[in-house]
Amino acid sequence: MPSSEEIIEITEKYGARNYKPLPVVISRAEGAWVWDCEGKKYLDFLSAYSAVNQGHRHPVIVGAMKEQLDRVTLTSRAFHNDQLGPFLEEICKLSGMEMALPMNTGAEAVETAVKMARKWGYTSKKVAENQAEIVCCTDNFHGRTTTVVSFSSDEQYKEGFGPYTPGFKLIPFGDVEAFEKSIGPNTVAFLVEPIQGEAGVVVPPDGYLKRVRDICTKNNILLMLDEIQTGLGRTGRMFCFEHEGIRPDVLMLGKAISGGLLPVSVVLASREALSVFRPGDHGSTFGGCPIGCAVARAALRVIVEDKLPQRSAELGAAFSKKLETLVGAKVELVRGRGLFLAVVLKKAAGPARAYCEQLLEKGLLCKETHENIIRFAPPLVIDQKDLDWAFERIKEVLG
Ligand SMILES: *Cc1c(COP(=O)(O)O)cnc(C)c1O
Repeated sequence: MPSSEEIIEITEKYGARNYKPLPVVISRAEGAWVWDCEGKKYLDFLSAYSAVNQGHRHPVIVGAMKEQLDRVTLTSRAFHNDQLGPFLEEICKLSGMEMALPMNTGAEAVETAVKMARKWGYTSKKVAENQAEIVCCTDNFHGRTTTVVSFSSDEQYKEGFGPYTPGFKLIPFGDVEAFEKSIGPNTVAFLVEPIQGEAGVVVPPDGYLKRVRDICTKNNILLMLDEIQTGLGRTGRMFCFEHEGIRPDVLMLGKAISGGLLPVSVVLASREALSVFRPGDHGSTFGGCPIGCAVARAALRVIVEDKLPQRSAELGAAFSKKLETLVGAKVELVRGRGLFLAVVLKKAAGPARAYCEQLLEKGLLCKETHENIIRFAPPLVIDQKDLDWAFERIKEVLG
């Protein structure tokens, strides 16, 4: 078996350098734990950006995948398959939405929502041709396609990749007045993350979503929530929008919807909005494939049956309190909801990356976001004992 060092060498030799991973090579995983090539054990405190909320290789999801592997994996949408309908019904009922469109990656779900909102604008809101406008927030993260980076405010995401797709307007996140002011006759949608994950787990002011919901309703604008990272239990509720008792018009899910086994994403919306798609308007070879749907059905069942939203709320509240005790020389503040947390470091503490490297040495896997923020988002199946173990290591490094 090649060593971790050898694996890193060939990965860097043959792979494009569009990531800068920590120097650890994972070769096995179970629950909240992973092992490297040499057998060293690490606690996963990132969960593949919340794609493994159910923990690595959850036996129920793995079992469903194995069973489906022995039946049929891919049909394309040229034919029906016996997993797609039940999956769509289950995800609609879970989220309280009327209809769904399956895709694969999160970015594809966002692209789909953008196309849907535009077409809805032209057919239902009667916006003049090619004038539809979608409002988004600065510091957003919605994926990496050419259209999606067109409305990023991060220079690195965009630089060298123009020309950009027009039709997007950026406003500050959490600012209701700015949203109101941004609205014009051609505004068809507001695309927003209920908590900005990649920006560093930025929680908007209380009541933000409620007020935004009202403004969207009054102005006939689709409220499109990107819950690809915040959805499915991560923030202590099944969906982050539940914290404010609202419902979006459009909901994008991905990541944990398959428990980390396959790329599965979905756009959920009202019957009116999703009905803009007619045969031939949009599609994906793998979107809605039987293997993806079977896996997603099991992954959703696990979230419900293992009460992962509740675990996230309870364990997260306690863990956040403990992290607060570290505020001091290095830690500026702690923020987040449920087990979706971030520590913001003080300028004087230096770059967050160095602390992630120290935590890695101690057996805790986490990743910096931006220069000075470390996100903590363990699998939601993690137990109290492992959280205590993690806290001891975090205290040694950040206390
Ligand atoms: C990860 C993420 C995406 C993109 O998902 P991919 O599967 O990487 O394309 C979009 N929006 C949010 C909020 C995300 O966290």
